[in-house]
Order: sequence, then structure tokens, then C-alpha cells
Amino acid sequence: MRRDLIFAAVREAGRISRADLVRRTGMARMTVNSLVADLLAAGVLAEEAAAPTGERAGRPARSLTLGPAAGGVVGAVISADGVRVAEADLTGSILDERHHHIDTSDPVTALDAIASVITGTGRVWSTVAGLSAPISGGIVQSSSVLPGWAGIAPAAELSRRVGHRVIVRNDADLCLLGEVGYGVAAGHQDVCYLRVATGIGCGLLLGGVVHHGATGVAGEIGHVQVDETGALCHCGNRGCLETIASPRQILAALETGYGAPITAEQAVELARTDATAERIMADAGRMIGRVVAALANGINPSLVVLDGPLISSDGPIVSGVVESLHRYAQPEVVESTAVRVSALGGRAALLGAVGAALRATPAARGERAFASASSPAPSSVAAPGRRERLVRREMIVEALRGRGSTARSDLVKITRLPRAAVVDILAELRHDGVVELCAPAEPRAGRPSPHFRLTAGGGRLIGLALAGPGIRAVVADGTGHVEESLTVPFPMSNDSHPILRATAEMARELFERHGPEARIAVSVPSPVHPETGRFGARSVLPMFSGFAPAEEIATAVGRPVLVENNAQLAALAEMRRGAARGSRDVLYLKADQHTGAGIVAGGRMHRGAIGYAGEVGHLNVRDIGPLCICGSRGCLSAFLTPAYFGALLENRPSAGGGSPGSQLAAGIFRTGEDRLLSLASGGDRPARRALLDAGRLIGRIVAPLCDVLNPGVVVVGGRFVEAGAFVVDGVREALMRHCAPSAAAGLKVVPAELGSDAEVLGAIEMLL
Ligand SMILES: [Zn+2]
Ligand SMILES: [Zn+2]
Repeated sequence: MRRDLIFAAVREAGRISRADLVRRTGMARMTVNSLVADLLAAGVLAEEAAAPTGERAGRPARSLTLGPAAGGVVGAVISADGVRVAEADLTGSILDERHHHIDTSDPVTALDAIASVITGTGRVWSTVAGLSAPISGGIVQSSSVLPGWAGIAPAAELSRRVGHRVIVRNDADLCLLGEVGYGVAAGHQDVCYLRVATGIGCGLLLGGVVHHGATGVAGEIGHVQVDETGALCHCGNRGCLETIASPRQILAALETGYGAPITAEQAVELARTDATAERIMADAGRMIGRVVAALANGINPSLVVLDGPLISSDGPIVSGVVESLHRYAQPEVVESTAVRVSALGGRAALLGAVGAALRATPAARGERAFASASSPAPSSVAAPGRRERLVRREMIVEALRGRGSTARSDLVKITRLPRAAVVDILAELRHDGVVELCAPAEPRAGRPSPHFRLTAGGGRLIGLALAGPGIRAVVADGTGHVEESLTVPFPMSNDSHPILRATAEMARELFERHGPEARIAVSVPSPVHPETGRFGARSVLPMFSGFAPAEEIATAVGRPVLVENNAQLAALAEMRRGAARGSRDVLYLKADQHTGAGIVAGGRMHRGAIGYAGEVGHLNVRDIGPLCICGSRGCLSAFLTPAYFGALLENRPSAGGGSPGSQLAAGIFRTGEDRLLSLASGGDRPARRALLDAGRLIGRIVAPLCDVLNPGVVVVGGRFVEAGAFVVDGVREALMRHCAPSAAAGLKVVPAELGSDAEVLGAIEMLL
């Protein structure tokens, strides 16, 4: 255990003095010296002379580094021209990088050769290999790059040959990880990596995790439809981005203009001096940028990385992308999205394989390291930010859900988080009453690891939701079973103070009634910044701008309070107890005049860099459209207003009775919407058609998000669903028509099951 700490500190620092080790580990100098001596003798650590500082007299301090017996990782990339291999030590320093020109056309002989290259590198803890072909369920799919490999299970084959677990991934994923580990994306949690090459592809890092989607086809940005009457694409759809803005199109246009074949390098040069070439490439950049803007609004990355043979940082494609991003994304999103060009070139996938191997290296066991003269260690022991903590908290709770008693060591394996982080977050969850210590489900051999389970029957869970017509509250027992629910009418006004005060007051009363173990989460109709906890949305709901709702309510209650955006919580609730049960990749669409979305990626809520993920109401429908509250023109929300339905509502008799929600004193935005829903419920065909069309519009505009996120289920909720399934049918029809065939295949589009309770139940789910 104590050797763990020493080892982890050296691994993290790379090079550290004994004095700093004493400071960092908090152990006595004598203890540190004795442990270091053991590890040095075993070759796990090494010592090197430090540069003399000149300030101190006497013996110069010598710094400690990882020794040869600490071992390392191997990254490899297998492609048509052989295999490139990189070795790194456990601090991530690259020790060696080589290209082996072996024949990869026959996978069996190639795998033998690759395995001997890997074992030849010495003590290896983890190997990750990238393959230039799609892999699904561990099996290589047919591809023109490595045609002979179809049907092979490369990970199993390599693991058997080298004697340790080898992970094999598509090399596009690894390019993204290369940027995160060694390139421009270092330190970012939410990244869109765009490769503009033969095709246009996209890798997504969401909350620090590479996203693959429900059927593994996430990132199909090249087949986002940008022109429904455009040229036919090989995917079967029309007007895909690839048919308009791929390098092949750009080079073909240049060749036609210049009457001679042009290489990518020549095109980049030409664009510096020739106005036509510059214009052709800038235009392609603007087209790509329109789709990037939709992703920025919908997924809210902090970084967009551009890579490819025609991409140069001062070139016209990049400036075209930036121009469109500024034009079509919301102002706050533009401010928080950086656009950078990859600097890793052809090394991205290889460095990504090294990064993935470092991540896959099991958490530290300094004792074991000593015993076997080797050990991997946590990839990071730096204090994580609030947002990272939230994500890690959810990963651990998600891992415990449905598992019952689970060993802490198993949680480290399941979540792949650093052991220190798991220990730390379990302590926090225990303090909050979310988890408790328990006995192992069955006796285990070896050193016991503490076992944890989710607390059942403990304190009450209180969910509150601020919605247009009032404040909704639900009280549930420790397992999430609802015991009590109530609604207090409270109209939304232009001043957010009264409703926040009323919510805080209600939270305080419920908390007093249900005792000190109760925990509270609040759903709010505005994005919440994941780091600061503040509403950032001047452009979305101006009256909420700048408040820190969690702090305000927590001050009134005297307890910590969790606050989250309503559509995100609805998505979580529909996944756990509603229409998307059983799916881990869900897009929840709140279909009403403030259309929004909630994204669940790999079972976890996706919030985005500044909490704006799912703001689909500000996706562009038409350049010359109505002005929107965000300052752009032609946003989706600007279309679905009462004014948009105005002509339909004029001179039309109200269908008597059955007016959904009309008894909830309509808020300031509501009257037109209530009337439309009332007409549709009463059987009015034009009103029903209007809702079907609204669904088609929403579906068409969010189709790019489905192409890139690859959800298994799209749940349509929101007030428009109250009048029947018309809007759901419209969304389904449009998604099937406009999504890339790969994303549409197997996609389910279903009505929400939880109705207006989804948000408040999501608040309860967040506490579970
Ligand atoms: Zn296509
Ligand atoms: Zn807008």
C-alpha cells in the first residue's frame, strides 16, 4: 500500500526528489528512504543525478525515475504497409518508435510477426493495437484497406500469441486518443475530432470517454445530409457532406479549373496565392462548418480538432469552418468551442494506441510491483475538477446499480478509473449516504477488498422540478420508489428570483419533514454549467442568467443540492424507468415550443463543456428565418412558436373539453400551444397535421446528431406528445429519411412514457 503511493508519485511526476516524495506522500522521511531503497534494489525505480542547483551546498539531490523493471506499454498500428510500433514507459514517455515493413495481406502470418515484434520489446503491461478496418464485436468487418482480415478476431489472436491482454481498436478512435494524450486535445473532456480525408469521419470524446454509439457507428459525419436534393452518395442517401466537401470533390474541382492533376500538397500551396482555389476550399470549409456548428450546439464540445491532407492551420478550410461555426452556433457555444488543427500528422493513431495502453494498464499495486519487480500505476492522481468528479461519481454508481455487493477492486476494474479516485469517490458517496459498506456476496480468496452497495431504504430522495406551470415535487424512498408527489402552481415570470425562492422554500419544508438523511436534486429549464453550477444562458432564458441555483437553494436548505437541466434529467429517467429501458445510448427530444434534447451516452448523462449539450432548439433551420431569442436567425425554436401556428389557430373553434394542461394556469408562453394541443386532441385534422409537420421539422434538424451520436432509442416527449403520437410519427419519418442509413438501421423512435413527470423522476434518478 505504501509502495503504491511512492510508485504512483514517481509515475505521475516522471522525475522526483526524495524530499518531494516525503512532501507529496506525507510519509516520514525514514519510511520513504527505506521504501525507495527496496524499489531501487528491485529495479522498479532508478536514480539519476540531478543538475546541481548551485544554491545548496553539500550533496546534490538525486532524482528518482521509473526503472527498467517497472515495465511499459506498447502501441501498434496495423495497416496495408506493415505495422508501426511505439514503446513507452509508464509515465507515457515514448522510448522507441519503428515501422516494420511486414506483409499484412495474410492475417495469420502477419499476426505471428506482429506478436514477435511486441514480445521483443521486453516487459510489457498492456498493448493496444489500431487496425485500419472496422471492428464490430471483436471481429474485423470487410474493408478495402485490409480485405484479407474480414472475420478475424485480432485481439484474441494477439493476446494468445503474446501472453497478455491485447486490445484492438479501429485506428480512427485511436487518432482521437492520440490528440488527447499527445496532441492539441490534451486536457479536454469533450472533443469532436474531424478527419477530412478520403471520407469525412468524426471521433467523439464525451466526458472523457470515447463514444461508439448503440451499434458502434457513431461519428458518421460524412453522411450527414446537407442537401436533400443533392447528388446520390454510395451510402444510399442523397446530398451527404462527403459528396460536397470531401478532398476528392475539392481536388476534382481544382483539376477541372487547371486542366491538370493536383496533389493535396499542391492544393494547399495553390490556395495561398490563387483566389479561385482559395474560394473552392473555403466553401468546402463552410459546408463542413455548418455541420460542425450543429454538433457544437447539440454536443457542446470544448474543442473541435481538424485533421487531413488539405487542412493547414492558416488555410481556407479551417477559416471556412470557423466562419460557419460563428454564424450557426449559439454565441455562448461559439465562445466555448476552440477549433484547432492536429499537429501529430501520421503519428496520431500510434500515439493514441500508446495512450489507450496507458489507460488500460491496471491501477497501481506498489506491493505487487515490488513482488514482481514491476507495476503499473494510476494514470493520474491530480485532483479532478467538479465536472470530472460528477462523471466519476456517476460511473461508480452506474457500476454498482443492479450488481449488489461489489468489491472496491472490481469497481476499479469495471470503471477503469485510477484506484485512488475510486477510493476517494466511494468515501464521498458513503458520506452522502449513497453507498454503504457490506459483506461480500460470496467468500473470496486472497486479500479482502472492502465491498460496497447502493444504500437502500436509507434517507428519502426529494426531486423538485421547475416547470412552466409550477413546481413539481416527488419524494421517494432510498430505492427510488415514489411515495408522494405534489405540484404547487407558480407561473414563470421574467424575474427568476421568486421561483427560485419558492423552490428553496419548498425544498426546505420537505427536507424538514423527511429528516436529515434526505437528499435533494432540482430540475431547471436552463443549461447549468458543469464546473461553476451557474446558469450561463443569457441567450436561452435571460431571466435565469448568471444565477447559481444549487448554491441559492442549498443556502436556504442548509444542505448540498444537485441541480441539473430538465431535458438531461428526462433523458436519464426515460432510460432508467421509461421508454428507453435497456438502452445505454439515448436521445430524448423535448418536443414543444422550446425544443430541447437530453443525451445519454454509454449510460451516462452528457452535459457538454458548458452544460449546453442538447440545446437543439438553436439548430439552424433556414438562414432567412424568424429572429430567435439567442440572436441568430432561423433557429428551430424560432419556428415552433405560437406565431408559427398562428394562421392555423385563427378563426378555429375550440374543441370543447380535453384541453391538456389548460387547468394549469398558462404561463406567459403557453396560450397558443395549449390551444393547438386542445384542437389536435379534439380531432382537428389541420392541428394534427401541424403537429406531424412539427415532428418532421424536429426530426430533420436533429438527424445530424443521430448520425454522429448513434443512439439506440430516440424518445419523443414534451408537451406536443400530450395531443397524441402525431409529433412522434413526424420525428420518426424524418429521421428514417434524413439520417445516414447506418444510423437509421435499428433506430427506435418511441413516445416518452413518463410524461410531465420525466424531469422530476430524473432528479430522483440522479440521486440514486
Ligand atoms: Zn452518404
Ligand atoms: Zn436560437
